[in-house]
Amino acid sequence: MLKLAASTQFDLPTLGKSMHELLCALFPLPRSITGDGLRATISAINDILPLNVSEVPSGERVFDWIVPPEWAIDEAYLEDEAGRRIVDWRESNLHVIGYSEAVDAWFSLDELRPHLHSLPDRPEWVPYRTSYYKRDWGFCIAHRVLGTLPEGRYHAVIRSRLFPGSLTLAETLIPGESSEEILIFAHDCHPSLSNDNLSGVVVAAHLAAYLREQPTRFSYRFVFAPATIGSIAWLARNESVLPRVRAGLVLSLLGAPGPFHYKTSRAGDREIDAAAKHVLATDYPGSCLLPFMPWGYDERQFCSPGIDLPMGRLTRVPNGEFAEYHTSADDTSFVTAEALGEAWLACLRIFEAVERNQYYVNLLPKGEPQLGRRGLYRSIGGYQDVPERQLALLWVLNQSDGNSSMLDIAHKSGLPFRLIGDAADDLEAVGLLALAASARCQMKP
Ligand code: ZN
Repeated sequence: MLKLAASTQFDLPTLGKSMHELLCALFPLPRSITGDGLRATISAINDILPLNVSEVPSGERVFDWIVPPEWAIDEAYLEDEAGRRIVDWRESNLHVIGYSEAVDAWFSLDELRPHLHSLPDRPEWVPYRTSYYKRDWGFCIAHRVLGTLPEGRYHAVIRSRLFPGSLTLAETLIPGESSEEILIFAHDCHPSLSNDNLSGVVVAAHLAAYLREQPTRFSYRFVFAPATIGSIAWLARNESVLPRVRAGLVLSLLGAPGPFHYKTSRAGDREIDAAAKHVLATDYPGSCLLPFMPWGYDERQFCSPGIDLPMGRLTRVPNGEFAEYHTSADDTSFVTAEALGEAWLACLRIFEAVERNQYYVNLLPKGEPQLGRRGLYRSIGGYQDVPERQLALLWVLNQSDGNSSMLDIAHKSGLPFRLIGDAADDLEAVGLLALAASARCQMKP
């Protein structure tokens, strides 16, 4: 079972730095929902975490969707009559609309305008745009640069190909004591953008690398796939896995400073919801709780009515609610090692709460058992949190009638989950508490 040390025992600065380094290495790769940039990303993650890779062929039906053709791009630029390059895909892969079809032609500025995308409110930033399912082509450009373009002829060149290929899925399963699974999903299809969602990718990869070395009660499955079409393809191919999913998290937007935001599962009252709410409320003051809504990231698929997994979503400031979202300003300097490290530990704390959320029965429920005789009532010693530790023992004894989980007791008592879990361990060790037989592997309905 996953039992984490105190936060001070983790070297979060070093870990955060390692995540940020991986993020910087992945940043320039020209990712999309298919293609070699995506494969190169998976290959780089594979260096720290062995992944099982599968390819879903273009044209395969996945629920109501069809896997699109693969997209490859070799070169793209816009140049003026003097041959000066206005934008060049080699400088930033955001400069080309994802899935642009090929073009090699001269245009007047007016003819070109419908194919040029900029942000008038943020004239220095380049927007991120895609057109996966409607054939189109275009460039994304800083509005300031667009404003300097004189009338004249412009040469638009995009050397891209759309062809029958495949979409890349990657995952790893880390076995635990139980075959019940915790499912973690991170989308990996955005090109040079950091917070959305390389932050989710690197946090997930480092969580998996850590959990591989730990004894865990549950098995952990990490899935890296493109947003929407990737999660749908994974779900369509893995329906047999879904009954084993006990809890899960969609991870995104974890690297920029800002409070955590937890979005609940579709039902809103699953074990993962209780765990995340409790951990964030006690360990990360200022965190926000969002009710489920069918908009956002891949929780839309995992929480669709025919799938309805007990999965929530953890981000910091959500998509669309910060100015840098889907722009060139979401670069490697926008995310910090500190924010990544803190998010990594927050996820582990949530997993720990799910793992330790058991049901117990008090074996001496008539009156309070005499704790001092059993060495549990510490009246002396250097424990700063002695009163809370003692209170936790009393709460666990009082509420453990087989119907209250550890999270229920933590919630009712207002004490940190860790104290409640440790109190249960202490009480079990001296024979005052036992796992409730009927609830040993059960969740509340
Ligand atoms: Zn996005």
